[in-house]
Formats: sequence, C-alpha cells, structure tokens
Amino acid sequence: MTNALILIVEDEPEIAEILDAYLVREGFRTYRAADGQVAIDIQPSIKPDLVLLDVKLPRRDGWAVLAELNRRGNTPVIMLTALDEDIDRLQGLRLGADDYIVKPFNPVEVVARVHAVLRRTSGLRTQRVLRAGALELDTESYQVSVSTRGVSTSLALTLTEFRILAHMMKSPNRVFSRSELLDACLPGSDALERTVDSHMSNLRKKLEQVGNSDAITVVRGVGYRFGRA
Ligand code: CA
Repeated sequence: MTNALILIVEDEPEIAEILDAYLVREGFRTYRAADGQVAIDIQPSIKPDLVLLDVKLPRRDGWAVLAELNRRGNTPVIMLTALDEDIDRLQGLRLGADDYIVKPFNPVEVVARVHAVLRRTSGLRTQRVLRAGALELDTESYQVSVSTRGVSTSLALTLTEFRILAHMMKSPNRVFSRSELLDACLPGSDALERTVDSHMSNLRKKLEQVGNSDAITVVRGVGYRFGRA
C-alpha cells in the first residue's frame, strides 16, 4: 500500500522523530500523537491505515487506546512495548494488536513490520480511504476532501462524479477511455460517451476550485487520466 498513513503514538520525542524519519523515507505519510488521548481524538478524522502505539503514554495509556481503536473498527495496530510484562499482558489479554515490537528497537525492523502488517491486513480490509496528494476520498462515507496547510475542505460531488473520481484514484496515471468510465460509473445506463465529458467537466471544475486543476488531465483522442494530485 503506497503512501499509507501511519499514526505514531509515542511520548518520547526522539523515538517519535526516528520512527517518523524512517517511515517517511519509505514513502509513508505520518502523523504524530504524543499522548493516548490525542490519538483517540484524532483517529476518526485522520483515519490512519496503521497505528504504531507505545504502551506507556501520558493521559491514556496504550492499552486504553488499543481497546478504543478495536471498539471503533479494525485499524491495524503495532504495539511498542518496553517491558516483558507488557508482552505477557498483550498475549494474555489477546487485545487484538496485529504485532508488537520490544524497545529498544531497530527502526529498520519497525518499517519491515509495518510493511508486513499492511500486506497481511490489506487483503482483509478493502482500502476505505483513497489518497493522492492533498486529496482524500472516503469510499464508505462518500466524502471527498482536500487539505491545505492542515485545513480540510470538503467537496460536494454528485454520485456520478464521486464514482468517476474513486474509479480513477484507484489507478493513478492510468488512462481511462470514455466507454470504460461509462461502464464503471454509470452502469446499465444508456448514456452516451459525451455524458462522461459533461460529468468530467463538472468534476474537474470542482477540483480546480480547491487548487487541484491538474488532478485529472485530458489525454487527447484517448480519454482521461488521474495524476498524482
Ligand atoms: Ca512512553
């Protein structure tokens, strides 16, 4: 899963910094929370693909965060544990972490585990949130938003515009013909190929209004391509 978002929940700045640097170097996007309460508060809005979760944290500890994440859904979690007793508890409680890593750790090992857990879990969980640059599309809540300097603006798309965008975002840089988009996004309708052009024109205008004028480009004589916004 490229550019997956990893939430790093760690109160020791040096450790958070190192994890962040290694993950970013691997192409992941990261978000940091320095205590458990922040992690619990931020998770619904940033929807991380995986959480790296320290056990000993201020305000709410890693166990409380893990329990809350499991109650909310199925975000993969890798626990960062400092002590053997943490591991005993992790195994004993079967709290549903996907993996655990004992401190002190090698950051290369952490990155490898992140890849492994994402590989293992991505088949089970279809990717709910599609992302490209600042653009984010939630396939379950049907919301599309663009974030600029931490401020998220949502886009009001019609269902057809949403389907076109979702379909194209799943295969960045691939060129789609009009008939392909028609089949995928307006199934069973007897709409003409130029109908795609009119939906596309509206969609591109809406993207342009939020600063993504290059997100979808026209490939003359072929169709449309969604680039990396
Ligand atoms: Ca800690």
